[in-house]
Amino acid sequence: MRIAVGGFQHETNTFAPTKADYAAFAQSDSWPALQRGPALLTAFADMNVPITGFLDAAKADSQTLLPLVWCSATPSAPVTDDAFERVMGMMLEDLAAALSTGLDGVYLDLHGAMVTETYEDGEGEILARVRRMIGSDIPLVASLDLHANVSQRMVDEADALIAYRTYPHVDMRDTGVRAHAHLTGLLSGLPRQAKAFRKLDYIIPLTAQCTLIEPARHIYAHVAHLDGKMLGNGEVSVTSFATGFPPVDISMNGPSVFAYADTQSAADEAAGELADMVTACEPRFVERLWSARDAVAHAIATSSDAGGPVVLADTQDNPGAGGNGDTVGILREMLLQDAPLAALGVLYDPQAASMAAEAGEGASITLSLGAKTGGADEAPIEETFEVAKVGSGNFLATGPFYGGSHMSLGTTVLLRKGGVHVVVSSRKAQCADQEMFRHVGIEPSRLRVLVVKSSVHFRADFGPIAREVLVVESPGPNVADLTRLPFRHLRKGLRITPLGPAFEG
Ligand SMILES: [Zn+2]
Repeated sequence: MRIAVGGFQHETNTFAPTKADYAAFAQSDSWPALQRGPALLTAFADMNVPITGFLDAAKADSQTLLPLVWCSATPSAPVTDDAFERVMGMMLEDLAAALSTGLDGVYLDLHGAMVTETYEDGEGEILARVRRMIGSDIPLVASLDLHANVSQRMVDEADALIAYRTYPHVDMRDTGVRAHAHLTGLLSGLPRQAKAFRKLDYIIPLTAQCTLIEPARHIYAHVAHLDGKMLGNGEVSVTSFATGFPPVDISMNGPSVFAYADTQSAADEAAGELADMVTACEPRFVERLWSARDAVAHAIATSSDAGGPVVLADTQDNPGAGGNGDTVGILREMLLQDAPLAALGVLYDPQAASMAAEAGEGASITLSLGAKTGGADEAPIEETFEVAKVGSGNFLATGPFYGGSHMSLGTTVLLRKGGVHVVVSSRKAQCADQEMFRHVGIEPSRLRVLVVKSSVHFRADFGPIAREVLVVESPGPNVADLTRLPFRHLRKGLRITPLGPAFEG
């Protein structure tokens, strides 16, 4: 069997300050740089990325792999038309070459929440262009992030869409394996699958979507339970619940369920069961948000030198959701309240990192720290810090989320004032791996107050050492209280938060 494989990943926050240009896709970050040609087949070895799982499974089955292009960029404002058209140009050029040598199926590693300057449904456009080239007979299967804002067009253009089932996303690789099994099934006799798709009526805040906690935990248990289930006289092949990516001002914002089965009635029934379950869970998706002041005070008051840190999620500045990773609201509170055994990571400030590295370990340096990119309305912190450690920013991630990824954060330094430590990097990255602290000499489990620029992914690696987790509302573009976002293009009637106000248009 001859299968073309590629990917084009972006999670777009239409309220974020910086667009994703071609350079953002070409360079490496926490994931590899743009890959094309034979290098694509080996670039993802041992990583927790969907295409890794797909490639491993295909190689184990001795299938012939025809590489297209694969690239990703850190979440941000929409993808520029230039970047979208250049990447799609490569993908379709490679696909045409694959078609000319004979092609049985196509797998794409997509996110599902891409918005471009021109297209609000980025993946719908990607899938439609690929479909137009391959025709209706060649199966096209795509894996999606759990945060996909799925459209009817995406469902129509793909033979199957298969989303992650965990947040933190510890099953990205496994999702690639499941996509491979489904595509291989379609190529070896599984009847063409009926599809069912349902959009839900309320947006779920990111921090409430975590699958380690209820109610998402039991919904995903039911998603897994439906695999291979007979409903009436039809067998369900695969179902997904995509919780959606909220900070996006488009009509297709919001959670969805999609199901595939031998018969239309089985697909409808599976999607209906899941949709009913998500609808019934609406009150349980409501979540408390802390102010920076209260959260830092609570962490200091309730922690001790043993028993692990109180972990504060700086969700609004999460670089995994369009933040620039450089706001200082919580850091200011840590300094004001003189937090003991406290650390924050990862603060993006290449200028400060470079100045501190130049000054050298042990130096005392007065800096204007953070808040330089304009992602939030606040001023940098003017303060004198000790340069406690200077690191290269290159290290291997070991936690369940990033595990196996070779991080390249550029010059990374540890600054210290009293008990407050700040990890400052030269590239943006969501703080979801303990190595991000260990790289500059901090052991997270020994801290009392630990602040991470992340919404949920940190829970995979930091959850086990956390005494308690607080979700904090501090400046940043990934607005946690969604009713504060100036939405204008949602579909009428969609509730902006669970049990919250409906969008009126
Ligand atoms: Zn995601």
